[in-house]
Amino acid sequence: MDFSFTPEQERLRYQVREFLQKEVTEQSKLDFKFDQPYSPDTWKLLHKLGERGWLCPLYPKEWGGMAASPLDNYVIQDELAYAFAPAPCALIGAMVVGPTLLIYGNEEQKKKYLPRIAHGEIEFSMGYTEPGSGSDLASLALKAEDKGDYYLLNGQKMFSTKADFADYGWIAVRTDSENPKKHKGISLLIIDFKNTPGVTVRPIRDMAGYHSNEVFYDDVRVPKENLVGDLNQGFYIIGAALLFERAVTISGFHRPLELLIDYVKSTKRSGKPLSANPLIRRKLAEMEMKFAVTRVLSYRLSWMQVHKMFTLTETAITKILSTETVYDLAQTGMQILGHHGELSSGSKWAELHGWFAHMYQESPHYKIAGGTSEIQRQIIATRTLGLPRG
Ligand SMILES: Cc1cc2nc3c(=O)[nH]c(=O)nc-3n(C[C@H](O)[C@H](O)[C@H](O)COP(=O)(O)OP(=O)(O)OC[C@H]3O[C@@H](n4cnc5c(N)ncnc54)[C@H](O)[C@@H]3O)c2cc1C
Repeated sequence: MDFSFTPEQERLRYQVREFLQKEVTEQSKLDFKFDQPYSPDTWKLLHKLGERGWLCPLYPKEWGGMAASPLDNYVIQDELAYAFAPAPCALIGAMVVGPTLLIYGNEEQKKKYLPRIAHGEIEFSMGYTEPGSGSDLASLALKAEDKGDYYLLNGQKMFSTKADFADYGWIAVRTDSENPKKHKGISLLIIDFKNTPGVTVRPIRDMAGYHSNEVFYDDVRVPKENLVGDLNQGFYIIGAALLFERAVTISGFHRPLELLIDYVKSTKRSGKPLSANPLIRRKLAEMEMKFAVTRVLSYRLSWMQVHKMFTLTETAITKILSTETVYDLAQTGMQILGHHGELSSGSKWAELHGWFAHMYQESPHYKIAGGTSEIQRQIIATRTLGLPRG
């Protein structure tokens, strides 16, 4: 089996890399590291990526994309992640909303949102999770009452990342409370956050300084034209959207591994090179092995997308492997760097710019956001192995 890229794809990779070396700023990297409101630097970068069709390569050209194949898209995503640029996999509009609208949106919605997403002009926040509803999405309660030409929303969402600055919300609501099959009473709405009264956003910060939000909806009026797909079909639409969200690339984290390897090669402790320590050699070899396996699975996922195959299980496997590999890398880095590795980037004693201290605090959330590792394992157990639901 040959996993190499074509000469055209290698050329594309080089072009994207060259562009990013010139255009990505430190501020823009920080915006994504902490999920903070995009600075002017980041918006500028998004516009430039959009002009080249690199923000949403998979979209048809009429909607601002390149009509790229999933493998071309993979090459671009890979480079964006490696440069710590705003990779499409971190952009909710580009990664989740746009691809889902291409399937379920009506023509008006496509016209209104897709070109602005692809040109880096607007961002979305996703609102699925609630205080009493996370993994069990079907139990969500945010009520949307039919009031003729609009829905009236009352309730709360949790962990609505980017809701503090996003232009729009991509929100799952309960439109039928009577149906005993709860997943059949959910719909999906787009909410204009900037121009809709009744939406209150309260920040949540975690130990890594990462920023998400609680959002309260009090008598919020949403026009019916903002319904995506059919009424009470939201659960299935979100199912498709989650596959886009979970198809992440691991390349952004190979760079810290490379930094760690360079550190080991150039550092001595008690007069002995770290590179001679058998435990460290073994750990680094294991990390490289995990990255290699995950990368091959990501290629395979892209290949399956090229062939329009259903990827529920493969997406679950790739999400587990990518997020758990990053988690393992953070642990490995902290073990190798010792106490200096615990210091954050502000300290003059910090090793490798405090990268691993941050990653150590941040990496647990990758295993939760977008559906926990346990839920991904449930998908594999039921869908692939045919085991009964746990
Ligand atoms: C940093 C961060 C950002 C996020 N951003 C967003 C966002 O933008 N929008 C959004 O809507 N949500 C977001 N989330 C929410 C995330 O999707 C949920 O936290 C996640 O789906 C888990 O839901 P929960 O927190 O309610 O945990 P629960 O569902 O209550 O789960 C608690 C524990 O039980 C386990 N568990 C639950 N059910 C099962 C089962 N059937 N089998 C085995 N184990 C099970 C889970 O794996 C977990 O370990 C974000 C979360 C984090 C941490």
